[in-house]
Amino acid sequence: MNVVIVTGGSRGIGAATAILLGSKGYAVCVNYLANKDRANKVVDSIVRDGGQAFAHQADVSKEADVVRLFDAAEAHFGGVTHLVNNAGILFTQSKLVDIELERFNQVLNSNVVSCFLCSREAVRRFQAGGAIVNVSSLASKTGSPFEYVDYAASKGAMDTLTKGLSLEVAASGIRVNAVRPGFIYTDMHADGGEPGRVDRLAPQIPMRRGGTAEEVANTIAWLLSDEASYVTGSFIDVAGGR
Ligand code: NAP
Repeated sequence: MNVVIVTGGSRGIGAATAILLGSKGYAVCVNYLANKDRANKVVDSIVRDGGQAFAHQADVSKEADVVRLFDAAEAHFGGVTHLVNNAGILFTQSKLVDIELERFNQVLNSNVVSCFLCSREAVRRFQAGGAIVNVSSLASKTGSPFEYVDYAASKGAMDTLTKGLSLEVAASGIRVNAVRPGFIYTDMHADGGEPGRVDRLAPQIPMRRGGTAEEVANTIAWLLSDEASYVTGSFIDVAGGR
């Protein structure tokens, strides 16, 4: 059985990915940080569709929580075979000179340390190969000046983790890839202080529109699947041509 952990599966891209993978027959562990109700709604949607899922609270930037998360998934479904490192945060738009150290550390912990801890746990536990998809961002290439250089830097680190780990584990039958979404309609932009950001920036996108969480989920699901069996250490921009 395919067993997947989706970190940050309660909302946005993670929720769309969990629901899609559930419909494709994966048993899904829907991880969340605080939003139990939203995580339970994702689980309900998967189960209503005939799939298997459960929700599990864990702060994936914390080592003990990550171990508990994998233990819980194993207890529910048996060995984990797939991982989507999706959980991520950003803070209010700001120039780098105004970013406090505490915020910088929090972004790195939530976006990069989480990816390291979950990937390490997955590689330690995968029994017969496996696949990991990291949800990076186009920000790793643009640097997000005047908005969130801290966030962009965290995604740059995630890209490097993707490449390095993919090469370390390629011969063990484990594939590690990443998607780099562009401007996607989710709650995240409200956290950045501008709920309407995607619509404001849409005219600058070659396809002239923002993306949906489902469009990112489709790409993640493909990279996880056997259809991508010869793809590792690769990055797919899901960004409307940016
Ligand atoms: P979102 O709607 O704000 O959802 C964030 C998710 O991450 C929530 O499920 C949240 O859980 C979870 N989370 C945050 N910190 C966590 C932690 N420490 N432990 C466990 N879960 C945690 O975000 P989104 O837009 O879907 O973004 C998902 C991923 O896509 C992120 O990595 C983001 O950087 C990336 N991305 C997004 C965009 C975009 O335009 N939206 C573009 C490029 C990349 P709770 O619900 O419990 O708070």
